[in-house]
Amino acid sequence: MSTIRYERDETGVVTLILDDPSQSANTMNEAFMTSIREVTDRLHEERDDIRGVIITSAKKTFFAGGDLRDILRTGPADIPAVSENVRGLTSALRRLETLGKPVVAAIGGAALGGGLEIALACHHRIAVNHASVQIGLPEVTLGLLPGAGGITRTVRMLGVVGALTQVLLKGQRFRPAQALEAGLISELVETAAQLEPAARAWIEANPEAQQPWDRKGYRMPGGTPATPSLAQILPSVPANLRKQLKGAPYPAPLAIMSAAVEGAQVDFDTAQKIETRYFAGLSTGQTAKNMTRAFFFDMQSANGLAREYGSDNRAPVRKVVVLGAGMMGAAITYVCANAGMTVVLKDVSPDAAERGKAYSAKLLEKAVARGRKSQAAADEILARITPTVSAEDAAGAEAVIEAVFEDPDVKGKVFGEIEPYLAPGALLCSNTSTLPITLLGEKVARPEDFIGLHFFSPVDKMPLVEIIKGEKTSEDTVGRALAIVQQIKKTPILVNDSRGFFTSRVIGTFTTEGMAMLGEGIPAASIEQASTQAGYPAPVLALMDELTLTLPRKIRDETKAGVIAEGKQWTPHPADAVLDRVIDEFGRKGRSSGAGFTTMWTANESASGRD
Ligand code: NAD
Repeated sequence: MSTIRYERDETGVVTLILDDPSQSANTMNEAFMTSIREVTDRLHEERDDIRGVIITSAKKTFFAGGDLRDILRTGPADIPAVSENVRGLTSALRRLETLGKPVVAAIGGAALGGGLEIALACHHRIAVNHASVQIGLPEVTLGLLPGAGGITRTVRMLGVVGALTQVLLKGQRFRPAQALEAGLISELVETAAQLEPAARAWIEANPEAQQPWDRKGYRMPGGTPATPSLAQILPSVPANLRKQLKGAPYPAPLAIMSAAVEGAQVDFDTAQKIETRYFAGLSTGQTAKNMTRAFFFDMQSANGLAREYGSDNRAPVRKVVVLGAGMMGAAITYVCANAGMTVVLKDVSPDAAERGKAYSAKLLEKAVARGRKSQAAADEILARITPTVSAEDAAGAEAVIEAVFEDPDVKGKVFGEIEPYLAPGALLCSNTSTLPITLLGEKVARPEDFIGLHFFSPVDKMPLVEIIKGEKTSEDTVGRALAIVQQIKKTPILVNDSRGFFTSRVIGTFTTEGMAMLGEGIPAASIEQASTQAGYPAPVLALMDELTLTLPRKIRDETKAGVIAEGKQWTPHPADAVLDRVIDEFGRKGRSSGAGFTTMWTANESASGRD
């Protein structure tokens, strides 16, 4: 079975159509590895009759890249086999770019990872300037490196520093115009129909096409590591990288940097071998497996839940009410309006409601300034938000997301005010972080339509939303909550109603352990170092300082009271005494008081913090 169709027309132009008949997307599976070798052999055999080559795709995405399931299957013992496999692919791509005829990639859908690496082996890359076309090498975000020539070619196109800082270490997904600016794409067209004529025109105009690095007199942009100006800055690169990673032991960025710098000092084929060696090490190691599993977990949990509850097939919510225009309410408003919903943002005073809307105005202004949104699109989004104090404005809304103070009575009151105005059967959601959903559900008229929708700050950046099912929450309500989370393009997890839900229990285990260690006499600096090295983005005690120390204590005390009220036994944690002492004896309450376990803030900084 071939995954690449080979079509040669009467003008001698060969179109290679990436079209795996066994899948909805093209990936670097075994069939592709065989196909790419076969078509490059055929191109060389028929070379004299060929005028040029266009590579295009019959799928929605140009090419989806490596098959990540392979990463989970292989271990260090497979290094020789993995290397052999990669060599098969990289030598085929090398044969493609040294065919002696112009080769053009015509990109009408996402070309990420392996997809872009195929395109980089072409002499010219034309992409459609459309939002669905993403371009980049995101391997680093999965603990991997682009091992199909991605490092070797970007270094030769953009120079060592350019390739590392702009493309390889960030793993950014570029829009077509950004990719053109970054030098990853050579030309843009506005519609898919313009791709082929543009590719043919380029072939006509460039019969002698060659990769820059195969031309006589080629010089690497910015120089090689032997060039004094580059040699001067290179020694500081690993140190800066370690600083950026905060000492966390992520192997991929260091391997990428090594492959780029070492590969820049040798010829193309040797550089490719170096890249393969680093790739084989990373792809068979544990970190890439862990990061790949996390990626699959995100996708599978979301896709699996959508299937189970049929949330894909529901009509989108058009009008939503957000109750409370504070930190969370304002940010939830932004993501809902951004997803096309009309949002009524209700608070107790017009000022508070307006302040909530101003948050969206600020984010939109930034998006326009950075070229991520047009002014017209930003204006439209902002116009969808109505700040108000009046419940009547909620008329006909299909969903409510409540984010008022963390107090069951206040929450009960705001739902009571709004319920009569909503569309019949409207979805009722609370963003509570700690209150039992079953308890809050008793405060509304329709507990079967009530559910927890727990967002994380900053809402516009954090993909996760925890959906919490109360005792009376209906299955249909779960389906609707999943659909709304999909609509705002977040990743849902579904949990039962238990104290701390899922996320607070997980993070709580981490923070209480850190504090307990301090109580056992382990120096704070060692605890911070150990938690950073374990790969957490913030050291554990500094994280407590950011969260503020009084909030976890309040939650702990409320949980304790609740457990005792249920007639159950409360077992104190060794961390409790440490937290009480830091707050009561030392007066350090975290950001709001200017000091925590390990952090001191200036008056200005702490004033902007929250308790
Ligand atoms: P906040 O204090 O910033 O905002 C609360 C807002 O609710 C204020 O603007 C207040 O004026 C408004 N409000 C109070 N009573 C009201 C009423 N009767 N009608 C309308 N508005 C009213 O609080 P926040 O940090 O945004 O938290 C809100 C909710 O989100 C809480 O339940 C909290 O547990 C939860 N939460 C917070 C975070 C976080 O990181 N802060 C994360 C997840 C969930």
